[in-house]
Amino acid sequence: VIARRAARADLRSKVGYHDLVADLKRRGCPVCHGTVRSVWRYLDGLLWESVNDPGVRKDLRASHGFCREHWLLALRVASQQSAASGIAILADDLLRHVLADAERAVSADRSTRRRGRPLAPDAPCPGCVVSDRTAAAYLELLAVAEEGSEPFDGIRRAGRGLCARHLADGFALVHGAAGRERLLGAFTHGAEELRRELQEFGRKHDYRFRSEGFTEAESTSWTRAVHRLAGEASPRKEPPR
Ligand SMILES: [Zn+2]
Ligand SMILES: [Zn+2]
Repeated sequence: VIARRAARADLRSKVGYHDLVADLKRRGCPVCHGTVRSVWRYLDGLLWESVNDPGVRKDLRASHGFCREHWLLALRVASQQSAASGIAILADDLLRHVLADAERAVSADRSTRRRGRPLAPDAPCPGCVVSDRTAAAYLELLAVAEEGSEPFDGIRRAGRGLCARHLADGFALVHGAAGRERLLGAFTHGAEELRRELQEFGRKHDYRFRSEGFTEAESTSWTRAVHRLAGEASPRKEPPR
């Protein structure tokens, strides 16, 4: 009993524990919720405070700004937080650099052929870096959390579960069989629940059973199933904690 209590206290002191527990209060994949929130906060801070910082600008040139997903999130953050001028400053700077890079790629083509894909960024998207850090913390917690702990039980409540994308990220991160088994459980439980709802949704489309009516879970099952496969959709507002 003492050992188990010590293990629980140890779990609670790990990075991301309280955020993960908060994200398990919402339906869907908690890793998606947590990563989007951390990137949202990063972008909000960046657009308000750092767009004129020379070091930040240099890093953003190296990565050509963000990946598509995080550019689209940046637009949402900017329109929600009145940070359009931050986007305008960044975009102007990056367009100028892409133009210069493209011109250089054309002249390099004429002389010596450069290796690699032309115009490929030299650094990863900084939004992805922030997102990966949050995902790693959550996935490591879910890989060690034992039955009876908040993360273990929370992800098995109705409507929760790892998405397929974060299950794959978890398997890339966690190598031990016990850890992978816990991650698999965090996916399987929700996936099986969704499959039952999808099958009922399909069955009740038959005119013979239409009078039974859909439950709320059944009528939303098809969109939630796609999000469980592809990852949750980006929110329009700052995700709650
Ligand atoms: Zn996810
Ligand atoms: Zn990204």
